[in-house]
Amino acid sequence: MRRVKVIGAGIGGLAAAIGLRRRGFQVEVYERADGPGFVGAGLSLFANGFTALDVIGVGDEVRALGGPQSGLVAGQRRPDGPWLATVPPPAIHELRVVHRADLHRVLADALEPGTIRYGSPATADPAGYDVVVAADGIRSATRASWPGDPGVRYSGYSTWRGVTTRPVDIGGAAGETVGRGERFGMAPLGDGRVYWFAVVTMPLDAVFADDSLEVRRRFGGWHAPIAELLDATDPATVFRTGIHELAGPAPTFRRGRTVLLGDAAHAMTPDLGQGANQALEDAATLTVLLDGADDLDEVLTAYDRLRRRRTQPIARRAHLMGRLMQSRNPLRDAVLRLTPGRAVAGQLARLQSWKPPAA
Ligand SMILES: Cc1cc2nc3c(=O)[nH]c(=O)nc-3n(C[C@H](O)[C@H](O)[C@H](O)COP(=O)(O)OP(=O)(O)OC[C@H]3O[C@@H](n4cnc5c(N)ncnc54)[C@H](O)[C@@H]3O)c2cc1C
Repeated sequence: MRRVKVIGAGIGGLAAAIGLRRRGFQVEVYERADGPGFVGAGLSLFANGFTALDVIGVGDEVRALGGPQSGLVAGQRRPDGPWLATVPPPAIHELRVVHRADLHRVLADALEPGTIRYGSPATADPAGYDVVVAADGIRSATRASWPGDPGVRYSGYSTWRGVTTRPVDIGGAAGETVGRGERFGMAPLGDGRVYWFAVVTMPLDAVFADDSLEVRRRFGGWHAPIAELLDATDPATVFRTGIHELAGPAPTFRRGRTVLLGDAAHAMTPDLGQGANQALEDAATLTVLLDGADDLDEVLTAYDRLRRRRTQPIARRAHLMGRLMQSRNPLRDAVLRLTPGRAVAGQLARLQSWKPPAA
């Protein structure tokens, strides 16, 4: 039986472990954290993420976390409320926003007990393994040890995130509200609680006496129900994350029998909501390619080629989208207003129409 070492029990590493285990590989997952640590806020999963989850065999378990948000209007609004642009509903009919902790738990539970070794930092040393999957996140030590590592950079903006403690009626409208160098996003989870995020251009080392109060100071006067969402959130759970990305495309996702997967390979800003979706695609691709493969070198080369070609343009677009949305230029609103809905729908359709390589 072929042996695979997975470094990192994040969404990417767990997805790869599930897919390969179910195809008959012997899989060990090494996680440096002492325990599962199911934390976080909301996470958007698009049709392409669900296609990948179906390939690894857990699509239905994840769908059960919450229904699609049909009937919602989504798009971009002005801080006083009027829409600048809306997304045609069919373009996002499969989109579900799940709690990251719930997704993580479903993935971890899909592995046999003992597969994940917590408190076990690992290196990409391949001794004893046929394949090493480095899913060790944006600051991947594996990637950093390879020639041409682009390194990591701060995007220039940070995000506060929260989830309300109770359902809040958001009036059937989700998406982002865009100010000057500031934006606020909201989306309902399957159980009616609301995931929200507040993005502000700021130095990485900015310090606030009280993060929750700072969010209220900046966004509390924006349109309803933003103040209500903040009221319904436990201030102790509001946390800020500096948004980072790879400073450029990694020259390769493969070295010998080791491959990079997820943020280790292509950490991108969250402006398209695709980071985890792409990690899931990586995992599904690797699963399909390795299943029954005779020539490991050939399939790992194919993985590298397919996944760089897919993920690196998406990372570039996410970066540009972040620049546009954080822009202080008043023309930005005109750009949003004048971009035809069908162009946005076309882009979303192309992004979500991903299929795994033929088995
Ligand atoms: C604010 C924000 C919002 C986001 N929203 C979305 C969204 O809506 N939709 C979406 O698709 N994506 C989103 N993303 C991106 C998404 O969170 C990431 O792309 C995804 O979580 C990456 O998963 P991963 O498994 O590759 O890496 P990680 O989750 O970083 O996991 C890496 C794991 O490796 C472990 N590790 C590291 N080094 C070692 C070692 N040497 N030995 C053992 N273990 C090690 C770490 O402890 C960690 O558990 C968002 C990101 C941010 C910051």
